[in-house]
Amino acid sequence: APVIGVLALQGDVPEHLTALTVAGAVAGPVRRPEELARVDGLVVPGGESTTISKLAALFGLMEPLRARVRDGMPVYGTCAGMILLADKILDPRAGQETIGGIDMIVRRNAFGRQNESFEAAVDVRGVEGDPVEGVFIRAPWVESVGAETEVLAEHDGHIVAVRQGNALATSFHPELTGDHRMHALFVAMVRGNRTPESL
Ligand code: GLN
Repeated sequence: APVIGVLALQGDVPEHLTALTVAGAVAGPVRRPEELARVDGLVVPGGESTTISKLAALFGLMEPLRARVRDGMPVYGTCAGMILLADKILDPRAGQETIGGIDMIVRRNAFGRQNESFEAAVDVRGVEGDPVEGVFIRAPWVESVGAETEVLAEHDGHIVAVRQGNALATSFHPELTGDHRMHALFVAMVRGNRTPESL
């Protein structure tokens, strides 16, 4: 089975580990560069993107993360993780850097304060069957995408799921529902792209 890490600096890590395991991966937390080197793919979880970005820099993970994403390691960012995979943030906070990897501009907390948390059925390209139940928690949306970035889903006219090559991102949190089809999609991406040392 593919080995998939969850970046475990801050955020909802255990939920992703469970969802990945159900979807057929061997899942484990990643906090150090040595752990990052051993995984075939990586989930960047939801949480607080500025905090995750600062901790990644502090733990010496930012450059290794960028290098692996650049080298084609499959990566899936949810919510704050989507922000971290964006090449550009519309209104970055001071010291907020991203890993990047997806040619897009994201708007943080885009779905607003008065409606900070909601659920909606989302039709995601590449996911068969019923719409995915999207859980949005102070979620970002994608303001614009580059030519290489494929839009996988929209909600209320805003882009909420994208893919560019081996990088996948959603505004919502599929790890918080019992529906693991987004994780299964990501596991399939990872299966198509194993690193030699893990075979
Ligand atoms: N609003 C958060 C941020 O900017 C993301 C929220 C989430 O991951 N649920 O990082």
